[in-house]
Amino acid sequence: MGSAADDEQLHVLFFPLMAPGHLIPSVDIARILAFRGVKVTILTTPLNALHISHIVDRDRRSGIHIQIHQTRFPSVEAGLPEGCENASSISDQPDMLPNFLKALSMLQQPFEEILQELRPDYVVADMFYPWATDVAGKLGIPRLIFHSTSFFTLCAVDSLTRYKPHANIVSDMEAFVLPGIPDQIEMTRSQLPDDIKDPNNISELHTCIWKADESCYGTLVNSFFELEQAYAEHYRKVMGRKAWHLGPVCLSNKNFTEKAQRGNINKANIDANECLCWLDTKKPDSVLFVCFGSMSRFSSTQLHEIAMGLEDSGHSFIWAVRKTEDDQEPWLPDGFEKRMEGKGLIVRGWAPQVLILEHPAVGGFVTHCGWNSILESVSAGVPMITWPLFAEQFYNEKVVTMVLKIGVEVGTKTWRVFAGEEKELVKRDAIKEAVTRLMDSGEEAEEMRSRVRKLKEMARRAVEKGGSTDADLTALIEDLRLHKRSV
Ligand code: UDP
Repeated sequence: MGSAADDEQLHVLFFPLMAPGHLIPSVDIARILAFRGVKVTILTTPLNALHISHIVDRDRRSGIHIQIHQTRFPSVEAGLPEGCENASSISDQPDMLPNFLKALSMLQQPFEEILQELRPDYVVADMFYPWATDVAGKLGIPRLIFHSTSFFTLCAVDSLTRYKPHANIVSDMEAFVLPGIPDQIEMTRSQLPDDIKDPNNISELHTCIWKADESCYGTLVNSFFELEQAYAEHYRKVMGRKAWHLGPVCLSNKNFTEKAQRGNINKANIDANECLCWLDTKKPDSVLFVCFGSMSRFSSTQLHEIAMGLEDSGHSFIWAVRKTEDDQEPWLPDGFEKRMEGKGLIVRGWAPQVLILEHPAVGGFVTHCGWNSILESVSAGVPMITWPLFAEQFYNEKVVTMVLKIGVEVGTKTWRVFAGEEKELVKRDAIKEAVTRLMDSGEEAEEMRSRVRKLKEMARRAVEKGGSTDADLTALIEDLRLHKRSV
């Protein structure tokens, strides 16, 4: 029989999506809860477990209750190559996405069996497992949801789903306003994800995710109140959702090792120390960091334009390039790396993003607008050049450029999965212009820099004792405890 303390201890099972942009913040949240005395289990597959086990093992050695529970990923059954357990390994093959989604849906049965075995008090399941609410519900376990995005995006998607403002417009490039949200925000149909683009044919997955958002016990959001106050309130009060803001979760990684190892999914040609030593030789705010997250794959033509745009801008840069299949790298302009010696550093593979952004030499970030990247940039006080590509990145761009006014747009207008498809080429001139606007210390750039620095301070205060995030974390744990006692 367990002791009274055991009975009191909450057990929360996390079931993150196997994609870096979801797995990384889920593990951060899991650890944050574990450090507050909650017993935490992270459910994932063997290859994904390898990416996080060093962090979890270290935490366990420090005495907190955190563990990984593994389940097999049905890659082959779903028509994926053997060993493909993470969305990032199919990001150069967008046609494999349906197979990946099929594999996710096949996890339903093992998930149920694991819940029966482990009997956690709560489940925090990613939005990509909409069925988790019913599966957990059958066993009397309340399900919380994690979307890995902003309050703004959740409100924007609700506006689109509810009011369908894109139904009666003529062209994909015609601007329409998102009705019912706190700011006057315009979008075009070309910027919307495929699953919601045609209002008469919204995908089943989208509908299921949105129903799960409405019917689950509550939502965990990686954001902080001061960043998105109006949207945090809209989500709770107007949309009527129960939500807790626990971010920026990247700030829970305190030391060099934690930051360097966080999410490190593959080896790069240059390690964290080398990047930081290179940055040490640069003046404050003089270096641009260029990184498009874990999933984007550009065509050779686009990579070539980026290289030329960076060179033309005359600014120093660190550019993280996802490994391409072609070792010859035909996209690199002739003699580029020689000319850029001391001026530009190319990281091939996984860059230590948080460490780079926090370095005082970094003064701008070219980002694809993944929500983690935006929050990491805000937490480091770095203004952005926004280059959204797919997923919910076009909504997140609006947060940066229109709501917070801490970034400039490079000007992409067309959503395409993983960026692989070349629907829209951003030319070197547009890249150079955006870099100049952000890095040449003009009035506009200085105002953005000053705004993002204030947000950085707010982010840091939010996670400190008594800050808004810290208080919401306490409220979450209290709520879960009370609810557990009441049933
Ligand atoms: N990331 C990193 N190094 C890389 C690429 C990505 O550390 O070279 C991290 C980044 O810090 C962030 C996550 O991977 O935490 C990417 O999440 P985001 O939501 O920004 O974009 P996604 O990869 O989901 O498109």
